Amino acid sequence: MADATQRLALIENISSVAGSVSELREALDAVVKAIATGLETEVCSLYLLDPNQKKLFLRATVGLSRDSVGKVSMHVNEGLVGLVIETMAPVAVLDAISHPRYKYFPETGEERYHSFLGVPVLSNGSEPLGVLVLQTLRKRKFSATEIRLVKTAASQLAQMMTHFRLRETLLTKEKERDEYRRRMIEANRQLKDYEKVGGQTRLKTPVKIRRPRLVGLAAAPGFGHGVAHLVGAFFNTINVNLRTDDPEAELRRLDEGLRHSRTELDALRARMATLMPESELKIFDAHRLILEDDEFIGRIRASIEAGYSAESALFRAIDELSTTLLAMADGYLRERASDFRDVGHRLLRHLRRDDTRAPFTRPTILVAEELTISHLTLLSHQNLVGIALQSGGATSHASILARSFEIPTVVGIEHLMASVSEGDDLVLDGNTGVLYIKPAVDIEREYDRLAQQYADFRQALNAKTTEHAITPDGHRVHILANIALQADVQMALRYGAEGIGLFRSEFSFLTYEDFPDESEQVALYSRLLGPLGDRPVTIRTLDIGADKYPSYMRVPREDNPFLGWRSIRVSLEMPAIFKPQLRAILRAAARHNVRVLFPMISSLEELRQARELLSEAQDELFREGIEHNPGIRVGAMIEVPAAVWLAPQLIQEVDFFSIGTNDLIQYLLAADRNNPKVAQLYEPLHPAVLQAVSHVYNVGRQAGKEVCICGEMASDPMATLVLIGMGLTELSLSPLFIPVVREIVRKVDFKTASLIAHDVLEMATVQKIKGYLIERYRDLDLINLVEMYR
Ligand code: PEP
Ligand code: MG
Repeated sequence: MADATQRLALIENISSVAGSVSELREALDAVVKAIATGLETEVCSLYLLDPNQKKLFLRATVGLSRDSVGKVSMHVNEGLVGLVIETMAPVAVLDAISHPRYKYFPETGEERYHSFLGVPVLSNGSEPLGVLVLQTLRKRKFSATEIRLVKTAASQLAQMMTHFRLRETLLTKEKERDEYRRRMIEANRQLKDYEKVGGQTRLKTPVKIRRPRLVGLAAAPGFGHGVAHLVGAFFNTINVNLRTDDPEAELRRLDEGLRHSRTELDALRARMATLMPESELKIFDAHRLILEDDEFIGRIRASIEAGYSAESALFRAIDELSTTLLAMADGYLRERASDFRDVGHRLLRHLRRDDTRAPFTRPTILVAEELTISHLTLLSHQNLVGIALQSGGATSHASILARSFEIPTVVGIEHLMASVSEGDDLVLDGNTGVLYIKPAVDIEREYDRLAQQYADFRQALNAKTTEHAITPDGHRVHILANIALQADVQMALRYGAEGIGLFRSEFSFLTYEDFPDESEQVALYSRLLGPLGDRPVTIRTLDIGADKYPSYMRVPREDNPFLGWRSIRVSLEMPAIFKPQLRAILRAAARHNVRVLFPMISSLEELRQARELLSEAQDELFREGIEHNPGIRVGAMIEVPAAVWLAPQLIQEVDFFSIGTNDLIQYLLAADRNNPKVAQLYEPLHPAVLQAVSHVYNVGRQAGKEVCICGEMASDPMATLVLIGMGLTELSLSPLFIPVVREIVRKVDFKTASLIAHDVLEMATVQKIKGYLIERYRDLDLINLVEMYR
């Protein structure tokens, strides 16, 4: 009976029940009723577990005698209900009375019922809260679909109970906190944190800790001078004390913001329902519950009625709730703080009618804890002269994107958010990774001079874009560009790229409102390929996950996202997304010089599965008579250590390799590419990295196949001589660095580069390798060139 419509109706019913009642007991009654109706059973009951007594108590029912609620209980090793907890799995019995575990409770009047289905109610997917039981008068075999549906209902129920539990805990904690605050005020008074102003005692205004010069990691070269604009830092951009004269208008604004937020969330959930398992959709329900929660909304309303603006009131509610939650011992409840903040962001956006595309009116430097890639792609670039981030590493995707936008960027700046205020005058040095806050006039002057010098230097290098990268002794190197967005093509051509060695297709996906379908992608790739003529282009299939998720894709929380559900793993699990991309690439390749590249390959099985889907796509297009390239060249990225070891086997099944050092380094050296704390360990010139790159290149060369390097290491002028000396002839890099890398290739004989590569491959420490390279670059009179970019 449980068809898709009924299933949806039941789930929606449960959600709406949860939002409409204020007492847990009432909610449980309504939910068991909704389930009994939805599944057409005579009985639906909920037994809750008391973990201390190891007993299950009947807490809500339709069908059994209501008088037995609260009275009937059983030990977990008793009855069919206990069996569900013992096995932690659904128990379905056609004729319960004849089952050896059947236990009869005369007060329930259940002797009339035959079939039994019990499903555990699990909090967080593992901690048992109780058992949901269905019983029927007639003998009925519950289908697998029905059992799945009851499991979904049980998980919704668990979430609802957690929500109510949370609310109760909050109220208690709040009382404790008020008391704690009162005592702290008293203590602070004694510690002289208070000052007398006009006869009144008040808390001294907290001052930002000023650090005039902060150091981080240089992520995109260039200099920026402008005013600070704090982004996404919810707590930094709201004036907490903004008052209103018109609370009625603010309340209306709040209602409208809530309405928009709910509609947005519902639309998002509906879209995601086709793409992700039901269990992952719970997060939308949790956020929806918050947006309907009387307690939460009541707090905001109360603040508005007390004279605060809607934003200030929202801030206060979120701050209070998340502070309370963060102080709790229960890890699960602590995590809920981020849900509140997440919902707060959504609501704030609607209250402010935020338009991230609005251009800046004067030179501006964005300052943020972290900038999501979706945010970065949506941002207006007019007057955006720099980006400063507290988090991130030089090869994190936000940095890569900043480079492709040519916006000077410094990342991994400790204390950034505590040091900069909205509107502060800033100077940012993307070459050495320094940020000056309210700099002295002489620093400003010096930087304006440096910026000019840098611009002249780049102009001189860029003037040589038509020259090929050939060493003085005639060795040809191909310099290609890594691009993320279609707009990068112009930049790549401007800097003289011979083609595109890596098109990170997922970035374009981030700019859509939903996954683009096949025809949208065909149009996208055609727009991209048009200006490139017959230059070679490598399109990498979707590499989403870790730090790159489209905003429309809700993803599971993972403890180690870079070791988790990302890249080819996502694509192989979502053929509904992957196949249209492969079809679109094959179609685009009919008229252009395109090859396809699979990211994050870590086994032959993955490569074969991806190739299998590619063949299916080819067969389909052939059958449908759609123009495509059946002989497209196929490559694997080598960016996981397993692939380095498997290179001899992998090369037999592909046409080329592309070495992705950004990931390869982080996996080889166990140093997160985004974490500034381990930035000094993330070292492209580590001997293990050089050995791995050289090995992969040799495997490819011996098999007569092409090997390209497309990680950011290829953009590092200090690595250029080592890479070409190893034999690599295809370097794909950030367009910005093409002029300097080409200049280095043109200045040094291949013979010299080979000797350099040979020497460093013999060395066992980073220190030795770097020291040696600095010496050699100095001898070759290249050190200035390199330093301009480092
Ligand atoms: C890499 O890992 O080196 C690479 C080129 O891929 P991405 O930076 O997009 O992960
Ligand atoms: Mg990668």
